[in-house]
Amino acid sequence: MPRRLAILGSTGSIGVQALDVVSRSGEDLNVVALSAASAWEQLLSQAREYGVRRIALSDQDAAARAGEAWTDGEVLAGADGLVRLITECECDMVLNAIVGSAGLVPTVATLGEGLDLALANKESLVVGGELVTQLAEATSAAIIPVDSEHSALYQLLASERPGTVDRLILTASGGPFRGRAAAELEDVTVEQALAHPTWEMGGKITIDSATLMNKGLELIEAHHLFGTPYEQIDVVVHPQSIVHSLIQLCDGATLAHLGYPDMRVPISYALHHPERVDVPVRPLDLVALGALTFEPVDEQTFACLRLAREAALAGGTAPCTLNAANEIAVHAFLAGRLRFTEIAAVIEETLAQLPAERVHSFESLGEADAHARRVAAELVADRAAA
Ligand code: NDP
Ligand code: MG
Repeated sequence: MPRRLAILGSTGSIGVQALDVVSRSGEDLNVVALSAASAWEQLLSQAREYGVRRIALSDQDAAARAGEAWTDGEVLAGADGLVRLITECECDMVLNAIVGSAGLVPTVATLGEGLDLALANKESLVVGGELVTQLAEATSAAIIPVDSEHSALYQLLASERPGTVDRLILTASGGPFRGRAAAELEDVTVEQALAHPTWEMGGKITIDSATLMNKGLELIEAHHLFGTPYEQIDVVVHPQSIVHSLIQLCDGATLAHLGYPDMRVPISYALHHPERVDVPVRPLDLVALGALTFEPVDEQTFACLRLAREAALAGGTAPCTLNAANEIAVHAFLAGRLRFTEIAAVIEETLAQLPAERVHSFESLGEADAHARRVAAELVADRAAA
């Protein structure tokens, strides 16, 4: 029997690569549901190509247009439509490749149904934290990471017994501004920030990689996925992005996961788990690479990683606030309304205005997210007016 998949965010960078993995899977994977925010024409053409009869668009207007244009399938609309798509599609696994905290509700809907979750949307773990992992435990749903570092760690940790792993080491490419001093970042342009040296990704995560917020979010993601205390998770800069992450064991051994940067590898791993199938990537040629290099992270210059670590340790609503402020600031930077170095400043001020509170429920996280967005948006507006 093929595994039935729902792919959320199928029109994005990860979604499109996931469909490529599905195309190559023969009879193993069958897509039964697709979703996007507003890219309805692309979504319809994907639905036709993959024989999908049900799609969801979170944007109401886009959903209405898709509904008019598509007579042989059903279009669900809005946030409720997306939840219905998940709970009614009778799938075996959901790939959540939505960007931002908008991915939290679908993550909760998936795990609440006891469905296995291939998780690209790191923001839902950053924001939802223990509530998400507890829900997965309660319904016995598996969370299989798609993020390349976490896929590497998941594979490295698979055969280790509890108590044998001393440290997790996340690698970071360092982004396009590696090695620069803070003053040299004042005037960087959107185009420069979008020019990632090793990975092709959606706009938001590419900016997160340039500020190193991406690594901050990944630190929190790793903590929740693997239950590892923060003081046992390190970050090291590795500009070639060949070593995807490492684990250090109690007997002095360090294990690493290597490969050329290609997201189809971790996507394929998650969608086929626990099987492995062929992915058309070049075999690693260490001699051609010659050298792999490593350097410390500069948390002075890249303040976002420090802010993420502080929010992680503060706990409660702090990671949710951090993430929401980051989404607002990155959006403003991409729209030309905020300078690159002001992204960290807006996040820091938002966190200062909204001290961490205890999290009681997913609803309280929704409120904290909305509150942080309002505060961050005001800070962006104040700076634009200054
Ligand atoms: P993209 O921006 O390329 O795609 C985002 C997808 O989410 C699109 O399908 C978009 O639809 C949809 N979407 C956006 N906003 C909403 C919303 N409010 N509600 C519902 N759907 C929405 O992002 P990426 O593919 O780059 O990243 C997706 C996730 O995967 C992120 O969390 C990212 O951090 C993570 N990730 C990505 C990697 C990569 O290589 N790209 C690597 C590791 C992790 P539409 O097209 O209509 O806007
Ligand atoms: Mg990553």
